[in-house]
Amino acid sequence: MRPDILNPLFAEISLFKGVGPALARPLERLGLARAVDVAFHLPVSWVDRHLTDRLDLADAGRVIGIMLTPVDYRAGGSARAPFRVLAADAHGNGVALVYFGRNSGWPRKLLPLNEAKFISGKLEAYGDNLQIVHPDHVLPPEEAGTVPARESVYGLSEGLTNNRMRDLAAQALARAPDLPEWIEPSLLARKQWPAWRDALARAHADPGDAQARERLAYDEIFAGQLALMLVRQSSRRRRGVSIQGDGRLRAMLKLPFAPTDAQRRAIGEIEGDMAQATPMLRLLQGDVGSGKTLVALMALLNAVEAGMQGAMLAPTEILARQHHETLRKMASGLPVEIAILTGREKGKVREATLMGLADGSIDILVGTHAIFQEAVRYKALGLAVIDEQHRFGVAQRMMLASKAERSPHLLVMTATPIPRTLTLTYYGEMDVSRLDEMPPGRQPIQTLVMAASRLDEVVDALARHVDGGGQAYWVCPLVEESETSDQAAAEARAESLKMRFGERVGLVHGRMKGPEKDAAMEAFAANRTRILVATTVIEVGVDVPNSSLIIIEGADRFGLAQLHQLRGRVGRGDKPSTCLLLRGNALGETSRARLALMRETNDGFRIAEEDLKLRGAGEVLGTRQSGEAQMKLATPEHMAALVDSARDDAHLLIERDGGLDSPRGQAARTCLYLFEKDAAVGLLRGG
Ligand code: ADP
Ligand code: MG
Repeated sequence: MRPDILNPLFAEISLFKGVGPALARPLERLGLARAVDVAFHLPVSWVDRHLTDRLDLADAGRVIGIMLTPVDYRAGGSARAPFRVLAADAHGNGVALVYFGRNSGWPRKLLPLNEAKFISGKLEAYGDNLQIVHPDHVLPPEEAGTVPARESVYGLSEGLTNNRMRDLAAQALARAPDLPEWIEPSLLARKQWPAWRDALARAHADPGDAQARERLAYDEIFAGQLALMLVRQSSRRRRGVSIQGDGRLRAMLKLPFAPTDAQRRAIGEIEGDMAQATPMLRLLQGDVGSGKTLVALMALLNAVEAGMQGAMLAPTEILARQHHETLRKMASGLPVEIAILTGREKGKVREATLMGLADGSIDILVGTHAIFQEAVRYKALGLAVIDEQHRFGVAQRMMLASKAERSPHLLVMTATPIPRTLTLTYYGEMDVSRLDEMPPGRQPIQTLVMAASRLDEVVDALARHVDGGGQAYWVCPLVEESETSDQAAAEARAESLKMRFGERVGLVHGRMKGPEKDAAMEAFAANRTRILVATTVIEVGVDVPNSSLIIIEGADRFGLAQLHQLRGRVGRGDKPSTCLLLRGNALGETSRARLALMRETNDGFRIAEEDLKLRGAGEVLGTRQSGEAQMKLATPEHMAALVDSARDDAHLLIERDGGLDSPRGQAARTCLYLFEKDAAVGLLRGG
């Protein structure tokens, strides 16, 4: 349970003073629902207010604070013309305070004639005159001191002013309690960080306060690391099964190639882990095409040889079917039963599979998350492999680990090269194997960037490619991130290509029903269709070696890591491949630079680093929508600078005080709750 001390921070924002229905939408758009959300909605910049008593010495263009006395009103000549309050400073210099679109009653009431007020706003030159349009503050002279010289500027949404946001931040701060210190004392001293509440107050008061910001960022990173360490601890406390296959099945494999050194190394590391009685928690990282499937198969066979079962989880149905096919092909001739289970297997087929799993006649099960539903009982699950893990979250990983009586060994495979910082941040509980070497004989992929306005040329090139016996993907962009409109775009493109290419065009998108999707994939894999129009459903894993051209529409709207994934669909056969990126006509500098980088390099790790800098962690990990990867306080720079010490700190704390019972342990619990890592606290004994 969340400690009481945090309750005020988790109060609904609707309880704040002055928050009525009018603010509901603007706040919702910013994701501000509770006091803590506002507390962590830190200002993005600031204005320095020039306090002065002479207009003639103030610079136009700056925000000033000054004592002024209204001397006259000037109503606008027309309904649209503004209402002006003419005012003077103590030295007789004049300025117009300008109010648009209001009836004049309000400014008259706010600024009665001959009553001095402290006024702040941006001073502008308007012809020969000075003006302040809609002053930010109009206060009685005695309240002048309440306006800070440096004022924070917040991220806003329509209907929410900065003044209002500042007021909400102040209310959130008023609710923020002093919290016990969870940061390791020597680190705190070395960094000279303020205590949590101080840091929060300082970060709101002065967005330039790097030290305060850094502390808050550290807290967030630390909470994340600690949560992962708790997952690790809890997983390692469970008993697993030591698995050492005798190699008899693996010896029967007839592979047309020898494993790369990197594959050999990874397989060795996995065998070493599986031989232990504590469950393996290993992340296998390898760029698209680096050969993760073979590594997975070896691990699965290792389990089967030892009389255990293996399960392989894929993020999409297409991919599950493809893995099923691939594994069966690779293992053909072996006495190994490999089955598939997705949401689509129903009735008798499903029953039979469930039976086979329960009685052990099925050795390996491939599927979507259907394979870890309640009804699915394994006789002896020894290994779970999750492919393309970036679609799954820590919570799902935890659920998986708790599936069997004896925890299965867990191998997670990511196709997205993830920068080291992010690996630690999101997979910090796991050991890592990297496939840093590509299988030999890879054909190069040439990447070209073209303006979408040259579509006719693109289609001509596509025609030449197809007439020469080639196959191609045509990827349609994300539209507004809604699957419906993606689908519409893809359907429209397929229609227009059909006008020229007829039945040689296939279509696949996420909204299609399973059998339809399969049929489309199968027709393309069998070379019956030559052009596959698709949404990003083909992003992960899909493998049709004969397809050596990929055209990506609206390339500037994709993340770099995503483009890299898509590009990895080609370059898998024996022909050189081409990736054609179609871009919009009016591209900004950044977009240009990003596409240029795609042209320049095929190094997934470099691309991922850039994407992290440009678009943030959610993009790189593909979890933007789920929100899991969103850091609220820590920037990528913070993460790079702080993740190592946060990790060490969390590790040390768990080692000394695995139950988080000591005073500092208790404080750390508070930190976990503050960042809503409740599930991780739940993993503590009696937590
Ligand atoms: P990933 O899942 O890592 O993207 P795959 O496992 O799908 O990559 O492998 C990509 C292709 O490379 C497949 O066609 C596979 O058969 C082939 N392959 C895997 N390992 C090797 C190897 N050691 N030598 C040659 N080809 C390999
Ligand atoms: Mg794969």
